[in-house]
Amino acid sequence: MIDTHAHVHDRAFDEDRDAMLARARDRGVDAIVTVGCDVEDSGRACEVAQRYGLSATIGIHPHEAKGAPDDLGAAFDALRARFGERIVAVGETGLDYHYDHSPRDVQRRVFAAQLEYASRCGLPLVFHQREAHADFVAGLRAGFDGRTQRGIVHCFTGTPQEARVFTGDFGLVLGIGGVVTFKTAQSLRDAVREVGLDAIVLETDCPYLAPIPHRGKRNEPAFVADTARVVAEVLDVDLETVVARADANARRVFGASLPLRTVTA
Ligand SMILES: [Zn+2]
Ligand SMILES: [Zn+2]
Repeated sequence: MIDTHAHVHDRAFDEDRDAMLARARDRGVDAIVTVGCDVEDSGRACEVAQRYGLSATIGIHPHEAKGAPDDLGAAFDALRARFGERIVAVGETGLDYHYDHSPRDVQRRVFAAQLEYASRCGLPLVFHQREAHADFVAGLRAGFDGRTQRGIVHCFTGTPQEARVFTGDFGLVLGIGGVVTFKTAQSLRDAVREVGLDAIVLETDCPYLAPIPHRGKRNEPAFVADTARVVAEVLDVDLETVVARADANARRVFGASLPLRTVTA
């Protein structure tokens, strides 16, 4: 089982990272992608990925767009020179108009720069989008080519119509996390039914958004199994099928550089 979106390099895990990764392995999680949110955080993601045999992404979260370096490409190139194949994607990048931690025009500029970088380097993308659907889609139309590029809309919580735009118009897959287990998330469950097993991957976004029955606690990759069980119920298929298909989709996005059985703690 692949946790396609985690932040296991987060300080929330500094006290028990070895034990946390051992619990993940015991529940069948054999690959984890730990996701960077600014240049420094991406460096930490790469270091933890290297130490534990995981994969990492490098990116500037929309919240952190205002602190992005002028020469983003040079900063990313330096990380790729140091960590090479550990780095499987650019992200998380996108737009977040819910919190507006960075001005919207700055978010759009830094999003476009990361689309351009990923396209130039042939790397897939991990997208974060919240309450910015129209501008986000406009950014994709300008800077993302679904015929040659791949990507994940992580922590997807939108409607069936939005899901269809991402999967149909751009060939993206949807990252489904703990929210799908919440009672209030009926429209998300409808969206999962709408796109089906060809267009979803599993994620935790830990340490945030723990699925039921862990809701409100610190999330961790082991809990991706709880999300997988709910997705199986929603689609009325068995758990093994969900995991096999979601993992195959993840490997299609991240490519051969996502190693098998990476979790070594
Ligand atoms: Zn996110
Ligand atoms: Zn995240």
